[in-house]
Amino acid sequence: MKKLILALLLFIIFFLTGCSKKETISQVDKIIQRDNLIVGVKTDSKPFGYINKTTGEIEGFDIDIAKYIAKDILGSERKVKFVPVTPATRIEAITSGQVDMVIATMSITPQRQFLIDFTTPYYIAGQTAIVKEDSDIHTFSDLKRKTTIVVLGTTTEQNIRRIIPTARLNGYKNYEEAFKAFKEGQADALSSDNTILSGFLMDNKGYRILKNKISQEPYAIGIKRNEEDESLKKNLNIIITRMQKDGTIRALKKKWQLK
Ligand code: GLU
Repeated sequence: MKKLILALLLFIIFFLTGCSKKETISQVDKIIQRDNLIVGVKTDSKPFGYINKTTGEIEGFDIDIAKYIAKDILGSERKVKFVPVTPATRIEAITSGQVDMVIATMSITPQRQFLIDFTTPYYIAGQTAIVKEDSDIHTFSDLKRKTTIVVLGTTTEQNIRRIIPTARLNGYKNYEEAFKAFKEGQADALSSDNTILSGFLMDNKGYRILKNKISQEPYAIGIKRNEEDESLKKNLNIIITRMQKDGTIRALKKKWQLK
């Protein structure tokens, strides 16, 4: 009888602990089980993430990084699904779980670090501006009381407001709209990272880029903050270090005509 009670007790304990134990699956295992990586990327920020008008394909520096990661984690660079994001939507795409990560010219900032986690940087950009070739604007201080186009939700917007409070800003929700407005002559300048502006200059004549940069923009991969499971962050940091050491980043800079 005693043995029966003991067995019953053990069964109950086993059952209860089994039920109360949370189903924990690491961020990396989730991706492996799904057999597909879901990455938030830009579609209007040449040469980092943009749609090639001839092929209709999405391509760029950030896209190549995403493919490299898919190859590393899942064995094929084709096992990646791209979800378009803008500066204003990319953090929510991460926190809501819509994407596994965002690789989208996103700078590490202390404010963003409150909401999401970042890997180590994979590229260092800097903020500057473009103007018409014959413009009288040569430095950032010339932007005082001039109209400058920015994309909302970017560090660009914050930096200009802080450094040149008298600059008049016209905000747009993405680069497609911002560049269109700029080409239509709706502002004196358009400010962004040197990387994105160099992409605009690749396709458009009659404009020039200011020589000075007013910030450092360390691009990193944004992921969901999860103190109990840092597996994805650790994996990504290892991959980024390898890409830096084995010449992949250098080759990508060359491929996308970046310095
Ligand atoms: N890198 C800057 C940022 O993270 C601006 C470029 C962008 O729009 O992504 O806000």
